[in-house]
Amino acid sequence: MRKKIVAGNWKMNKNAEQTEDLLNELIEKMPTETDVQVIVAPTFVNLASAVDHLEFINIDVAAQNVHQAESGAFTGEISADMLKSVGVDIVILGHSERRAIFNETDALIANKVSTALEHDMTVIFCFGEELKDRQSKNHFNVVENQLRDGLFHIEAKDWAYIVLAYEPVWAIGTGETASPEQVQEMHEFIRETVRKNFGADIADNVSILYGGSVKPDNAKEIFSNPDVDGGLIGGAALKSDDFIAIVNAI
Ligand code: PEP
Repeated sequence: MRKKIVAGNWKMNKNAEQTEDLLNELIEKMPTETDVQVIVAPTFVNLASAVDHLEFINIDVAAQNVHQAESGAFTGEISADMLKSVGVDIVILGHSERRAIFNETDALIANKVSTALEHDMTVIFCFGEELKDRQSKNHFNVVENQLRDGLFHIEAKDWAYIVLAYEPVWAIGTGETASPEQVQEMHEFIRETVRKNFGADIADNVSILYGGSVKPDNAKEIFSNPDVDGGLIGGAALKSDDFIAIVNAI
């Protein structure tokens, strides 16, 4: 059975003190009985303290990026081994901000996916079309290409470490949400695409999250779709009440 997951991508927000405050609020408000895997992704510098802070709580910690190389002369970069050494074994890859602002290509993302998997890390693999792709009715093609070029080189056994996060770029941080029908239609297409390439067992078991302006007031409707297994949350993950309300909306 696939997992229900709510992951909060904090992006470049929250210094050390603010990180601790938000984690304390989440600890206080987390539902004790839940079958939802809750994940938070603070910035690199606060990952180790977040892992320590959440040691006895059912909230997991993810990194927002990883470098593809094992080590070496890559000033300013962080390796998978470094993340693992502070207790982080989940990483977000392929986020639209990494693709657009930092010029990450499908080939680079594929490389990062391989490195993360070699280190037994779980990958939250983000992908999604831009507005122009949807307007030109090319969105299914774009999504299929991103999956094929960034992810489909992996082996069948690696799917146990993959979470898919469909994030239409036009809905990220814009307040514009895809309609529940658009979300279900695309998630069904994604699952079908996985099925065609890797078989029914993998397709039925992979969690597919939706991301793009999920808020407490639209989460329930989005999550009620049969092929939506949770959400990747940006802005609303920075407020504990909103984030927990989204966790409770599944
Ligand atoms: C994101 O950046 O992954 C995201 C979904 O952001 P927001 O929820 O703010 O649209």
